[in-house]
Amino acid sequence: MPPVGYVYDPLYLEHGMPGHPESPARLQAIISHLEGAGVLARLAKIEPRDATPADIELLHSREHAARVRGAAEGGGAQTGVAWLDPDTYVVPRSYEAALRAAGGLLAATDSLLGGKVGSAFCLVRPPGHHATRTHAMGFCLFNNVALAAAHALERRGLERVAIVDFDVHHGNGSQDCFYADPRVLYVSTHQYPLYPGSGHWAEMGAGDGVGTTVNIPLPRGCGREEYLRAYRELAAPLVRRFRPQMLLVSAGFDAHFADPLAQMLLDTRGYYEIASLLKSLADELCEGRIVYGLEGGYDHTALAWSVRACIDTLLGEAFAEDPLGPGPTVPGPDIDTVLAAAKRAHGLPGG
Ligand SMILES: [Zn+2]
Repeated sequence: MPPVGYVYDPLYLEHGMPGHPESPARLQAIISHLEGAGVLARLAKIEPRDATPADIELLHSREHAARVRGAAEGGGAQTGVAWLDPDTYVVPRSYEAALRAAGGLLAATDSLLGGKVGSAFCLVRPPGHHATRTHAMGFCLFNNVALAAAHALERRGLERVAIVDFDVHHGNGSQDCFYADPRVLYVSTHQYPLYPGSGHWAEMGAGDGVGTTVNIPLPRGCGREEYLRAYRELAAPLVRRFRPQMLLVSAGFDAHFADPLAQMLLDTRGYYEIASLLKSLADELCEGRIVYGLEGGYDHTALAWSVRACIDTLLGEAFAEDPLGPGPTVPGPDIDTVLAAAKRAHGLPGG
């Protein structure tokens, strides 16, 4: 059995500014927990590479890449920080860190498709899923996970790749990259309405890509039960129907009840159960080929333990009880209507 791989690089810590929630301390908390729990020692290190201009231009415009670089090396270098949108900062090393974050996903994809690892978790930042072809936004510079999908399709001969995005925010950038592309199934569960505002179930692709964008917009207050329904009743059957050759996961942990940026009530065990379901889908459909890329998650304890929960499913370990415990036991919101609408839109029974 090939090992479970992971990507990490200290350069990822050099993108940061005091007081911003998307901070280097997020990754430090994850690494320190994985080390302390003896998990890191069981994983195979995958060395990230630096994404080249040709890699970035698989999806992003040359102007976008030049703007990120210019902001980091110009304004970022002169005043310490520059802003690409009201949420999205760059500092002098941000461009290099972003290239290596994207390159981390590319290296993991190559390692996976070359059989060196059976699955992988990429502990990268800055995150990626809000970055569109032409714009940085929502803390994201280049779309790491989407670039891995494009790389697998354009250069590694794959014909179908699925991206599952459980970050609490809608991955508008990933949706944008593949909206008309039938080779990529993009499935997102997210709090709705919430930043960035997109992700209605009726957004389901265009042209040849109609049906390969799947949005499952969930009201605030959803916990483990609602999330698992969304995954069992919608995400899983649609991934099965698509028959991906590889599964990519935009893994954000900001739907945790302890997260400060959203109002969902998922708990660490919920992440473990979602990850278990994704693992069994990968085992069933594509020889277990699954690569996670870190997106959001801003409570450091929830983040570290939830990342570990996902890695534990890849290692075949049982759930490790976390100090935050189960989410609040309050009745969840009614999601029957939205699930039925999304099922109907995608031709699933029960819609
Ligand atoms: Zn998020």
